Amino acid sequence: MTNGTEVKAAVFLGPGMLELQRLGAPEPDEGELLVRVTCCTLCGSDLHTYQGHRAVDVPTILGHEILGEVRRIGGRVTDLAGRPIEIGDRVTWSVAAHCGDCFYCERGVPQKCVSLRKYGHERITRDHALSGGLAEMCHLAPGTSLIRVPDALIDNVACPANCATATVAGALRTGGGCRDDVVLVQGAGMLGLTACAMAARRGARRVIVCDVDDARLARAESFGAQDRVSVREGAERLDEVIRYATDGRGVDLAVELSGSPDAVAHGLNALRIGGRYVWVGAVSPTPPVEIHPEFIVRRLLNIHGLHNYTPADLADAVDFLEQSADRYPFGELVTRTFALEDVEAAFRYAIDTRPPRVAVTPTDGV
Ligand SMILES: [Zn+2]
Ligand SMILES: [Zn+2]
Repeated sequence: MTNGTEVKAAVFLGPGMLELQRLGAPEPDEGELLVRVTCCTLCGSDLHTYQGHRAVDVPTILGHEILGEVRRIGGRVTDLAGRPIEIGDRVTWSVAAHCGDCFYCERGVPQKCVSLRKYGHERITRDHALSGGLAEMCHLAPGTSLIRVPDALIDNVACPANCATATVAGALRTGGGCRDDVVLVQGAGMLGLTACAMAARRGARRVIVCDVDDARLARAESFGAQDRVSVREGAERLDEVIRYATDGRGVDLAVELSGSPDAVAHGLNALRIGGRYVWVGAVSPTPPVEIHPEFIVRRLLNIHGLHNYTPADLADAVDFLEQSADRYPFGELVTRTFALEDVEAAFRYAIDTRPPRVAVTPTDGV
């Protein structure tokens, strides 16, 4: 049921096709919320979808890194800390809603819930049209993990919390933390820079970052990475830096955020005996990587995959940003901001220029 008002939304109809439409805003049912979207940052997966590299049911509303202000509440809804949500609260929320009692929810991987509903990915239906961030309002389903965002965090810093930052928090958790570790971060995009800063803040002895792009590597200096190594021509220099930093042993923890099969091969060779490796970046099919089981066995390597994150990682992410926003220039990672009317220009700019993040502010001036 709509509440009688209409809101503007950038509806994705297929690769390269966005259309501004007016859609009816719903009256939230029990456990639901209607949130006014103040900021939505474009994540790499949004760009993949826009370019047709990632299948999605259309029509849909893209955008899942979202920040908003609660406008309507269906009954009593609480945040992750169990406190009731109120009208006017500034919130972000998990990229998906989960049921809480299926096989996967009960086993600590709610991001694989059997009845998962993802924001910025769902086909528009009569009951649930406003499910993405590139619209003036977003309709939140029951089972969405909500978190209040501290006033001290500006929109551009807080907005990537529920995808980029929370995924990095999940990666470090999966890797068993990083205190006193030499950490290798592979990829110096939004997630990589966040991983450098988070590892540095969480007691890493040394943070080494590698990428094929010098401009990305240059940014990593102000995010806590002591060594910034180009792997455009191969991993020789990286091996040398790691040998020097670890007395030839190899890194304690590596986090793969680039999705490149070459990076996986480099990372395996970079680990010390008993080292931990978390794979995050490969979210679309890649060519296979040759792995020798004996190498993994004899070197007692621990390899983990991570996709998305848990609600606790989201809380950790917002907490981390609040504690760290004055130490690292997160705000500078959003290089341009566009109005909803200019959403196509936002995608074109993001694809052509590849900055860490581009923001769209659907309700600026509304
Ligand atoms: Zn994302
Ligand atoms: Zn479930």
